[in-house]
Amino acid sequence: MPLEPLTGEQREIRDLVRTLARERIAPRAAEIDESAEFPWDLVELLREHEILGLPFEERYGGTGTGTLMLLVAIEEISKVCATTGLILALQELGSLAIKNEGTDEQKERYLPRLASGEWLPAYALTEAGSGSDAAAMRTEARREGDEYVLNGSKRFITNAGVASLYVVFAKTDSKAGHAGISAFVVESDAPGFAVGRIEPKLGIKGSTTGEVFFNDCRVPSGNLLAEEGEGFKVAMRVLDRSRPGIAAQAVGIAQGATDFALEYARGRETMGKPIAEHQLIAAKLADMETKCEAARGLLYKVGMAIDEGAEPLTKLSAMTKLYCGDIAMEVTTEAVQVLGGYGYIKEYPVERMMRDAKITQIYEGTQEIQRLVVAREMLKEQRASLLAGVA
Ligand SMILES: Cc1cc2nc3c(=O)[nH]c(=O)nc-3n(C[C@H](O)[C@H](O)[C@H](O)COP(=O)(O)OP(=O)(O)OC[C@H]3O[C@@H](n4cnc5c(N)ncnc54)[C@H](O)[C@@H]3O)c2cc1C
Repeated sequence: MPLEPLTGEQREIRDLVRTLARERIAPRAAEIDESAEFPWDLVELLREHEILGLPFEERYGGTGTGTLMLLVAIEEISKVCATTGLILALQELGSLAIKNEGTDEQKERYLPRLASGEWLPAYALTEAGSGSDAAAMRTEARREGDEYVLNGSKRFITNAGVASLYVVFAKTDSKAGHAGISAFVVESDAPGFAVGRIEPKLGIKGSTTGEVFFNDCRVPSGNLLAEEGEGFKVAMRVLDRSRPGIAAQAVGIAQGATDFALEYARGRETMGKPIAEHQLIAAKLADMETKCEAARGLLYKVGMAIDEGAEPLTKLSAMTKLYCGDIAMEVTTEAVQVLGGYGYIKEYPVERMMRDAKITQIYEGTQEIQRLVVAREMLKEQRASLLAGVA
């Protein structure tokens, strides 16, 4: 990897996002956490500055600046506010199935509205009884003439109630396991679609996480993504490209906490000197910064791999989400420790960062699932190299 992986243009965009994050987003972060209200004002800010266009190609009205740039922007925003960083990550997660599998017609219908930020999307895979085991889902879709009729519900859906479209996974063949799942675009005004309870939660409080219901919900047959029965593959291809977005959120939270802890440790004195000069605190700061830098190395590597069209991405993407999520939790916990009692109270942002970090170990596949994925891919690689040796 080059020492400076970002081009001059990418550094300019990063600096613009960094300035907006510091000046306009950071001052709202504590309020958003306190009120747990979805920050529409910051969606407007991201729209105005074309930041919601970062995941999209120019021909659909996006910036055409690629995945690495998107990840850098998510990191910059998440340094100050993980809820707002997630809004940008979701613009990618909720659009990826359309970007990857959509017909020209589907892309032209949806991507420009998503690239301008007029519409927010959601990705609806999880159900009350199926999280890690996605194939156990019970939502069904049956074909009736030119329509599909969906019945069932999804749980823990980010952007529930604020999204204009939902990419929904449902069984078109309930007996076929993975091979019976199909993917659909459901617009929020579709008949039979309803939003249920929005969950109160530990962190990323301004982001909505809710239930959505399909009661004889009718969508045109043209809203099927890919072919019937390909939904599980669609879902996994999305996750290979979206997990780095969560990794970027995690690195942002970790770096934000490290920067704050460093500043605090320079100013806080005990026993006649700044705590940053006590070796035990200095060691913590050094470990925190080192973990952030190592995590960023993986993050940039996966961003560049996606921009270069490298395949397969599954192992690298899972490793990146795994490592970045784990260090985010470790680093933010240490940041609270560096601030001592002040770390534990709401006057300072590190307790919020610690609460926000936890979700990066859970969504888009828990850390246990990432480890299973990485180990499975290692075994596949080993089998392939053994076979190549025999041939
Ligand atoms: C704030 C929030 C936002 C979310 N946003 C979305 C969203 O936008 N779209 C969406 O579809 N989903 C979303 N989710 C759901 C999330 O992806 C799931 O919660 C997650 O995948 C885990 O599923 P589960 O909660 O059912 O846990 P379970 O699958 O029940 O797992 C419970 C525990 O068992 C472990 N476990 C399960 N299976 C295995 C195994 N085979 N081996 C080892 N350990 C295992 C898990 O790692 C976990 O520790 C969100 C969740 C939250 C909390």
